[in-house]
Amino acid sequence: MNTETLKPTSKNVKHLNGFSTDDIGDDHLYTGLETPMKKEAFKLSDSEKKERISLLFEEIMDVMGLDLTDDSLKGTPQRVAKMYIDEIFSGLNPANKPKIALFDNKYQYNQMLVEKNITFYSNCEHHFVPIIGKAHVAYISSGKVIGLSKLNRIVQYYAKRPQVQERLTNQIAEDLKHILGTEDVAVIIDAKHLCVSSRGIKDESSATVTSYYGGKFSTPEKIAELQNYLKD
Ligand SMILES: [Zn+2]
Repeated sequence: MNTETLKPTSKNVKHLNGFSTDDIGDDHLYTGLETPMKKEAFKLSDSEKKERISLLFEEIMDVMGLDLTDDSLKGTPQRVAKMYIDEIFSGLNPANKPKIALFDNKYQYNQMLVEKNITFYSNCEHHFVPIIGKAHVAYISSGKVIGLSKLNRIVQYYAKRPQVQERLTNQIAEDLKHILGTEDVAVIIDAKHLCVSSRGIKDESSATVTSYYGGKFSTPEKIAELQNYLKD
């Protein structure tokens, strides 16, 4: 452990369960299933948010000493603001949640369905740098089925938030259980965190795997069957 980061500074005096705020970030501890949002999160419209973020990001760049009159830089604050709200953090807004239609399980297919290798890009909520990974999602129909592309869309929706991998895994699983009306859902996520590879401990080869096995997926046989389908 790097003792430098443990020295209390004016910004690092608040201890959470005995951890400093730096520890919380580098160890990627998380606090619950729900993304922590304040009550008045949607008081501002998207365009008002973009306007404010643009001004604030301009200030960050200015404080760092960047010349905002430079042709290459002057549009950056607006680009970042638009990207945050419309793209990489669009999953914070429930209005952007994908509309899901269910269909009757006409073929009476009653084995597990696995949608594997869903590529996603998210961002670590502790450092605001990318998490890049693959999600594998599986369910056993309780009578209803979901369009395959919708499994992908649910993953993308929850990925487009400041995230922690455990929460991303559980949010996808809980939503699928709710939509499909079954506990028989599994989610496995295998991801690289750029805050681990490009900074901090600078480990380029490690990846993090998280999983959720609900209902019928919690038996060793079903887990083995699922793992077998995930082999390349
Ligand atoms: Zn991080």
